[in-house]
Amino acid sequence: MINLTQEQKKKLELLWFVYGNYGKKHSDGNHRFIQNLLEKGEDYRKLFKPSKEAKKAVDEILKSVETTEIRIEVTSRTVSPKESESEQKRLSRFHNFYNHCGEEWENFWDSGCDDECPVCGCDISPYESIDTQTEEVKT
Ligand SMILES: [Zn+2]
Repeated sequence: MINLTQEQKKKLELLWFVYGNYGKKHSDGNHRFIQNLLEKGEDYRKLFKPSKEAKKAVDEILKSVETTEIRIEVTSRTVSPKESESEQKRLSRFHNFYNHCGEEWENFWDSGCDDECPVCGCDISPYESIDTQTEEVKT
């Protein structure tokens, strides 16, 4: 079952009046092949044996949706939180460790800067800060 977009349906209908419906290149196989795609979203090319030309024209329309899907996939991959997290890590030179109100936490940042305590909300200086480029430890 193929899910056709509105645009694909429009294009297929135009094809149908060339390769089917007693159009210029009408054949019974072409006619039924395109009709089943339009009405049922079923690809019966093996059954109706449409002409090579008709198959090629139809495939071109069907292919146009695949490129759209690929584009969407790429877009959603670039915004995935996992990737932006590792990007943050890569850009951040310092691995900072904090300790306050009985809580311990850490972060990656481009400097050994203060971070907000999750309990009291105060700005806390890291008790340890590792420079990931030189592996120097500042305490
Ligand atoms: Zn605190």
